[in-house]
Amino acid sequence: MFDCIIVGAGPAGSSTAYHLAQKGCSVLVLDKSSFPRYKSCTGALSPLVAQWFDFDFDFDPAIDRKLRRIRYTWKLGDEIASELQTQDPIWIVKRDWFDAFMVQQAIAQGITFQDNTTVTGVDFSNSHWTVRTPQETFQSHYLVAADGAEGPLAEWLGFSTPKLRQGAVFQIPTELPGEDAALNFEFGLLKNGCLWCFPQSQGYIMGGITFLGRNQPDYNSIFATYANSFGADSQLGQIYRHPLKLWDGNRALHTQQAVLVGEAGAIVDPLSAEGLRPGMYSGMKAAEAIHAALQGEADALASYTAAMHEWGNNIQWAQRIASVFFRVPGIGYRVGIKRPTMTTRMGQLLAGEIQYSDIANRVLKRLSTGFLPGRS
Ligand SMILES: Cc1cc2nc3c(=O)[nH]c(=O)nc-3n(C[C@H](O)[C@H](O)[C@H](O)COP(=O)(O)OP(=O)(O)OC[C@H]3O[C@@H](n4cnc5c(N)ncnc54)[C@H](O)[C@@H]3O)c2cc1C
Repeated sequence: MFDCIIVGAGPAGSSTAYHLAQKGCSVLVLDKSSFPRYKSCTGALSPLVAQWFDFDFDFDPAIDRKLRRIRYTWKLGDEIASELQTQDPIWIVKRDWFDAFMVQQAIAQGITFQDNTTVTGVDFSNSHWTVRTPQETFQSHYLVAADGAEGPLAEWLGFSTPKLRQGAVFQIPTELPGEDAALNFEFGLLKNGCLWCFPQSQGYIMGGITFLGRNQPDYNSIFATYANSFGADSQLGQIYRHPLKLWDGNRALHTQQAVLVGEAGAIVDPLSAEGLRPGMYSGMKAAEAIHAALQGEADALASYTAAMHEWGNNIQWAQRIASVFFRVPGIGYRVGIKRPTMTTRMGQLLAGEIQYSDIANRVLKRLSTGFLPGRS
């Protein structure tokens, strides 16, 4: 019998596993894929995450690029370029390599990892979980659903599913700019959403998501147009579609001896689609709660939900900004993105120096006064 079984070895699952093992718990992580495995994701990650692992290991081998330069465009024109003033640049990671690296860190702490193992059902009886796979069954005191946006665990555990938004990645091998490499963000080309393009070691990786509405974007032609603006041959590119479970308000993230972490719990920023950092944070918080529960602390899992609601109380402002910004992106670009302080604030948000709640009122006011004729 394991102390805990974690289903899913993405960043949220491996973060939970790492922290639980470090506290001396026995942990089994199961993943249906063969690792390293592909995950549709553009891989931008705040270096802030290193502190949650007490700088115990060096993330450098898992980082593909580090970037400070940011470029914004509106319908491929009206370009603004800027530099992040944060202490550390933003990391770009390749998810197959990064996720396998994080699993290795957890294995070094003593977890058991089994890939190629699809969880087909879970049952709770006699105060423990039974986890079924086609090959064998496993038992544990606690269960963690870390199976991402498309995994079945949340529904099996009785949680309702928030609306999924359709995202896509376009991976394109091409020559890259050297010194000039930047984090590129494009507004206006994708209705009700945005596009972004980051350099990786073998080409560009582009991402797109709609934050509002029900339209199904024609990603083939949108990415082709965006790729051409970088001088890349879109014929060489490959599209990977993947849904996103964006945060949609505070709700319980725990049930009887089980918790949801990462995207299984919709722990994804609804303004930026950032899921890596929040997922790893939720893993750390879930491990603290499960460890406390194993020590006999009553209501320990409720404290996990409470900790993530604190995160949610701040992130609700991101949701409010998104719901106004993506309705009137042209105004948003003019009165928000083009402001010289925009990149500074974005850097501070990524570095954890400020929170959405610190800037939301000003941003929302600016967006609403932007409607007024003659105001900018
Ligand atoms: C287009 C796009 C671009 C994105 N770009 C960024 C970005 O630049 N930066 C950022 O921070 N976030 C980004 N995200 C979000 C980010 O990719 C996710 O939020 C993040 O991967 C969630 O991590 P996770 O550990 O919760 O789940 P995942 O990484 O999805 O891992 C879940 C794991 O569970 C396994 N699994 C599922 N079902 C089962 C089962 N039944 N049995 C066993 N295993 C199972 C899967 O194989 C998988 O390995 C992007 C998302 C999309 C769609």
